[in-house]
Amino acid sequence: MTANAPGQVCLMQGNEAIVRGAVEAGIHFAASYPGSPSSQILGMLGKIARERNFYAEWSTNEVCALQACCGASLAGARALCVVKQNGLLCTADALHCAAQHGVKGGLVIVSSDDPSAHSSTNEFDSRWQALSAGIPLLEPTTMQEAKDMIPYAFELSEAVGQIVLVRLTTRVCHGRGNVALGALPEKPRALERVKEWDRMVCVCYMHGPALQKLEELRQRFEVSPFNHYDGPEAPRRLVIAGGTGCLYGQEALRRLNAGAETGFLALGTLWPLPEAYILKHLRAAEEVLILEEVDPFLEQAIQALAGREGLRVRFLGRSGGALPRIGELDPDNVTAAIARLIGASLPEKRPAGELELPVREMSFCAGCPHRATFYLLKRAMRQEKHPGVVVGDIGCYFMAGQSAGQYAYQVCNCMGSGVNVAEGLGQLTNYGLDQKVVTMCGDSTFFHTILPGLVNATYHNANMLLIVLDNSATAMTGFQPHPGTGLTAMGEAVKPMDIPKILDAVGCKVEVADPFDVVEAEKTLRRLLDQPGMNVLIMRQPCATLKAKERSRKPVRVYVDQSVCLGDGCGCDKYCSRVWGCPGNTWDFRNNKAQIDPVTCVGCGVCAKLCPSGAIRVEEESEERNRCVPAGADLTTKGGEEA
Ligand code: SF4
Ligand code: SF4
Repeated sequence: MTANAPGQVCLMQGNEAIVRGAVEAGIHFAASYPGSPSSQILGMLGKIARERNFYAEWSTNEVCALQACCGASLAGARALCVVKQNGLLCTADALHCAAQHGVKGGLVIVSSDDPSAHSSTNEFDSRWQALSAGIPLLEPTTMQEAKDMIPYAFELSEAVGQIVLVRLTTRVCHGRGNVALGALPEKPRALERVKEWDRMVCVCYMHGPALQKLEELRQRFEVSPFNHYDGPEAPRRLVIAGGTGCLYGQEALRRLNAGAETGFLALGTLWPLPEAYILKHLRAAEEVLILEEVDPFLEQAIQALAGREGLRVRFLGRSGGALPRIGELDPDNVTAAIARLIGASLPEKRPAGELELPVREMSFCAGCPHRATFYLLKRAMRQEKHPGVVVGDIGCYFMAGQSAGQYAYQVCNCMGSGVNVAEGLGQLTNYGLDQKVVTMCGDSTFFHTILPGLVNATYHNANMLLIVLDNSATAMTGFQPHPGTGLTAMGEAVKPMDIPKILDAVGCKVEVADPFDVVEAEKTLRRLLDQPGMNVLIMRQPCATLKAKERSRKPVRVYVDQSVCLGDGCGCDKYCSRVWGCPGNTWDFRNNKAQIDPVTCVGCGVCAKLCPSGAIRVEEESEERNRCVPAGADLTTKGGEEA
């Protein structure tokens, strides 16, 4: 990543290519909040920051990250802000204001979109934010372009004094390809003292100059090296593509042997559109197919351009049914769309694999403390006179809205929303809503966006319970540090922030429980549900994967004594594998009894506390090896009572 070897070709993931591009651009500053599919970028930057003499941080949230980049830019620094699609939306106010006041040192935002929402709650098209804020937008197709676009984006940003948005999608972030390295700057450019009349102040009269910058950018994009055309000089049928659509489109034209008569225009500069360049290839076209992820962004813009020029062109794409309106593009749906465009029959489908893979449900990991919390919560809520309302939030525990968490949620909006939605419901309990209101957040989300809502709910004394699922990690995105962990992105040890002390300072009633100590945790939970006002319960137990990584769990063996397990006959209806649902609890179909998968099980011992027959045993593996511990004995927590 830091080798000064211009011309050397390396196999790189898209996220790695972005990091390399940032190093070649000589960045001074990088900030991000983790979000898939681009979480690795800042993690890698943090590791090489000292060597390359720049600063990198995992910010508390995306607004902090972008505004810190604005501060760095004022001192002439090149600043890189990395967010995912939802994070970009979080920055909307900051972004629109920054777009109006402009930048001094180059400021580039890399935003990663997740079409089909592989690791997100929703799919979203970041490109609208560039349009709305009035900033330039680039989108790479290959790993080489991902690397090359970063220095280009910084140069562009400084040339016109504007933020540049580089949009990635999952397949570019996680795909791999060859990248020819460029040269590294010898030493970082010197920072500039902020002078008395230097200005990055958002006032409305800056709107006009911001629009002028867009016009200047349009001129630059007319000759950008990131736009290419292949095909006949005046094509009747034209394919226009951006991002992954370019690769799928090129592959489809090859498969259909249609490259000679069909024009193919690949765009890397998506906003403002290089209108003259597009029109040059569009004028003769009768039919145009647009390939893009996810919304008909280019389709609408190019359609408007054609209309303005009085061209009679039939457009096909995401909005006209030629391609699915939602979800990812793929080689098959793109090939089918191009085959329809040119009137060709579809090439023979590639044979599918012999094995039909089963659909994998979203599930908490084996030994995940959230499974225990949601199990206890569901049980406690069912025992209320009127079932309560559970308001979800975003993190691993988003999965609690599905079978992994006993379908716990009635409502779940976006990251940090839970405490606010619950506050609204909690206030209504004084106006006739006869239900308990519970919400939750993880420790990273607590710092990210919960604090203002917590202050609001406490100040207005809402009747609600906030459960802080403190697993000591930003687990879902790969264990990045947050203010509660005592580490920075650059590996520095700092004083961690104490969540109970913060809650105490805000004035909430706070208790702490261990979800693996199921008896005590349930008692505390039920007591707090009955307590009026704003209550907080911290469910504290480190993430199972973190414990496994740190090897901080006692080595134990968990197994089912099949002579005690009555299987289908015991009336528990496969309680461990069906209801509790840890991936370590499986079924032995030969004996029709439960079993533990020793590879998956991490030895938390909670299923042993829940088995009604006491058939699940936990056995220490080290100093007291072979001592069989009866069900209910607590090897991992202070409790020890049977559930
Ligand atoms: S919960 Fe206990 S008794 Fe029921 S199937 Fe599982 S191990 Fe057997
Ligand atoms: S002890 Fe039981 S609940 Fe814990 S990881 Fe193993 S199988 Fe899952």
